[in-house]
Amino acid sequence: MADRSFLDWPFFEDRHRDYAERLEAWCRENLPVDHSDTDAACRRLVDMLGAGGWLLATAVDSDTPAPLDVRTLCITRETLARHDGLADFAFAMQGLGTGTISLFGDAGHREWLRKTRAGKAISAFALSEPRSGSDVANMDMAARRDGDGYVLSGEKTWISNGGIADVYTVFARTGEAPGAKGISAFVVAADTPGLEIAERIDVIAPHPLARLRFNNVRVPASALIGKPGEGFRIAMSVLDVFRSTVGAAALGFARRALEESIKRTSERTLFGAPLFDLQMVQGHIADMALDVDAAALLVYRAAWTKDMGAPRVTREAAMAKLYATDRAQSVIDKAVQLHGGDGVRHGHIVESLYREIRALRIYEGASDVQKVVIARQVMGAGA
Ligand SMILES: Cc1cc2nc3c(=O)[nH]c(=O)nc-3n(C[C@H](O)[C@H](O)[C@H](O)COP(=O)(O)OP(=O)(O)OC[C@H]3O[C@@H](n4cnc5c(N)ncnc54)[C@H](O)[C@@H]3O)c2cc1C
Repeated sequence: MADRSFLDWPFFEDRHRDYAERLEAWCRENLPVDHSDTDAACRRLVDMLGAGGWLLATAVDSDTPAPLDVRTLCITRETLARHDGLADFAFAMQGLGTGTISLFGDAGHREWLRKTRAGKAISAFALSEPRSGSDVANMDMAARRDGDGYVLSGEKTWISNGGIADVYTVFARTGEAPGAKGISAFVVAADTPGLEIAERIDVIAPHPLARLRFNNVRVPASALIGKPGEGFRIAMSVLDVFRSTVGAAALGFARRALEESIKRTSERTLFGAPLFDLQMVQGHIADMALDVDAAALLVYRAAWTKDMGAPRVTREAAMAKLYATDRAQSVIDKAVQLHGGDGVRHGHIVESLYREIRALRIYEGASDVQKVVIARQVMGAGA
């Protein structure tokens, strides 16, 4: 049983503690699911999470823009990741995919939230392009004004849920100004004519991922979220919320690795005694526990700060994501080591954690980018 004492920290209210207990019980009963068909597993997970009511947290209100409860998002991601990485993915993408709508969308856009919060539609967030991942303000994809609508042309890549999503939030250049100030956000239904899945992408921890091609995709003016030219600011505001939750997912993976390592080193006998009796093993376990607690403090500090009404948590979220993903990598690597050969055996939990954790240091802002962000924030604050 993973350590749950963090729930006593003052970052949380009783409603969070109660939520965490109920979610934990649900996870024990329902996870993991069979992953042999990734698309089918994700569809099933969205359906199950919707039926269980857990997707309500991905957008707190269907009717009006309202801040997300970041502590609830983080608790959910941490708990799901500890039980089943794909369940965390399915939950996270329902939030990230509709974050633009839930925070900035009008009544028309918000119709999607009724479906995504119930698990009846799958969403995706389409920002990255082949030439602009980290350098996102340099995007090429164009949205040209045409009569009473816009025509989108170009490509998006690395789009999670690409291929199974029902709705994409898409960022494209509308050209009000050069760079970041000339980008706008749109809601695009997956079945809009001209939107095609150009390529499905396989990665080391499989989940639905695709390159999308927009062949003169025509959308009505009502598909625009916010005002023309606000897309970059909107995307960054959404990522500001979800970046801490990536740290929470990493924390869930790390906690599971620690839990498995404690079990393994207690049960495995070497040289006539439990493996845990070796002091060097105890040193590893101590390092892992320290990394987990320190990551949790940063993740829940960022979530609490946002929930207390901070307009932006750029510094806190960047620190949480950077530290939690980096330390989880180290914790999981130690877990693999402590499991010996079983640690690299296909299908073993620590082997899958080892694959799951890697991409988290790349997406939603690579670790190197987070360091630049933190350094600028620290310089700006003069501390
Ligand atoms: C599994 C997965 C899922 C993803 N899901 C989505 C999604 O749903 N939607 C979406 O829009 N995108 C998604 N992405 C894309 C992801 O956000 C980009 O891969 C990421 O932003 C990095 O962009 P890039 O791959 O083009 O690498 P590049 O931008 O080419 O960067 C390569 C490396 O250069 C270094 N680097 C970059 N910038 C700096 C800097 N300023 N200072 C120092 N070093 C730097 C970093 O080490 C970085 O990893 C996903 C990616 C992966 C791997």
